[in-house]
Amino acid sequence: MSTTGQIIRCKAAVCWEAGKPLVMEEVEVAPPQKHEVRIKILFTSLCHTDVYFWEAKGQTPLFPRIFGHEAGGIVESVGEGVTDLQPGDHVLPIFTGECGDCPHCHSEESNMCDLLRINTERGGMIHDGESRFSINGKPIHHFLGTSTFSEYTVVHSGQVAKINPEAPLDKVCIVSCGLSTGLGATLNVAKPKKGQSVAIFGLGAVGLAAAEGARIAGAGRIIGVDLNPKRFEEAKKFGVTEFVNPKEHDKPVQEVIAEMTNGGVDRSVECTGSIQAMIQAFECVHDGWGVAVLVGVPSKDDAFKTHPMNLLNERTLKGTFFGNYKPKTDIPGVVEKYMNKELELEKFITHTVPFSEINKAFDYMLKGESIRCIITMGA
Ligand code: NAD
Ligand code: ZN
Repeated sequence: MSTTGQIIRCKAAVCWEAGKPLVMEEVEVAPPQKHEVRIKILFTSLCHTDVYFWEAKGQTPLFPRIFGHEAGGIVESVGEGVTDLQPGDHVLPIFTGECGDCPHCHSEESNMCDLLRINTERGGMIHDGESRFSINGKPIHHFLGTSTFSEYTVVHSGQVAKINPEAPLDKVCIVSCGLSTGLGATLNVAKPKKGQSVAIFGLGAVGLAAAEGARIAGAGRIIGVDLNPKRFEEAKKFGVTEFVNPKEHDKPVQEVIAEMTNGGVDRSVECTGSIQAMIQAFECVHDGWGVAVLVGVPSKDDAFKTHPMNLLNERTLKGTFFGNYKPKTDIPGVVEKYMNKELELEKFITHTVPFSEINKAFDYMLKGESIRCIITMGA
């Protein structure tokens, strides 16, 4: 029986209050409106950005809300005006979009689409500002336009990448955020030359994906920096050969790295979300040519402070969203890199839980035990 045009009742993990375990609820998911698609989510995973907004410590709280933005699924139905997607397509919903029409979408350099760029404060759909989720008529807010902690979700078609239907969704779901963010930060933005040194701050999924980018680019040294020593063992599988734990040194980590590298690393990529690490990642690059790339999502009131001399000395500071990839144009190609065995995704996946135990995924991340935990819907 076709569900097109009908309300779908399904399970979703709803966050009613900041920092409280998600609650499995039956939600109603309205049909997709203009330029929207409704997706049956098969696999989702937990990224630290979900956890920040769930904790809502440094962020604007917006509850009740359905989190989740790293996922893979199949299009169930499409709304008016959607021409590039159809029911049955295998897709990755993405937290930032590509309208195809704005100056950013026309620019080769940018993925910061005017219409669909990430908006963490929006709880409804762009078309009418309304939510497509409700429980007994009470709306539940969306998150990043994706809300993948639901068996069905509605997403703007500009935030949906159509991928190779042969690709296993339980693996490539991580390409929709963390993997591409880190990989692209190195390959598209830091752009290390063969043999150069790269420091990676934060060895979670995003940082390890940045290390994977450094390995693919042929970096000579990959220095991992993390406060959690458990991460070092794991990181060896990603080509990280040297480790610095800032807690084990009396002097600033910038100085430790400068001593290890004769003045500083050629490139650094920050993947922590800590403002201290962002400043350290910038100040540890070599003067004259060093490039630092910020990836982590800071707290609301953070401010970046460094002496301007650090810039005048010809260091470059950059930031990137989603590894500079355009979601619809570029992400199918990242999936192909996995299909061609250029990219290894399995090593990122340390845990798997059924949807009913989604709160465990939060525990694993909060304890620093997981890199990525895959959540299997319908289980
Ligand atoms: P994660 O929690 O798995 O990994 C973060 C790692 O950073 C942890 O191992 C932690 O121990 C380490 N860390 C924290 N503070 C540190 C410090 N001061 N010095 C050194 N290491 C430190 O998180 P993740 O899922 O890999 O995400 C990493 C960051 O990237 C988060 O801030 C996330 O919000 C952000 N992110 C950004 C984008 C983007 O497009 N810019 C996209 C996705 C995720
Ligand atoms: Zn655009």
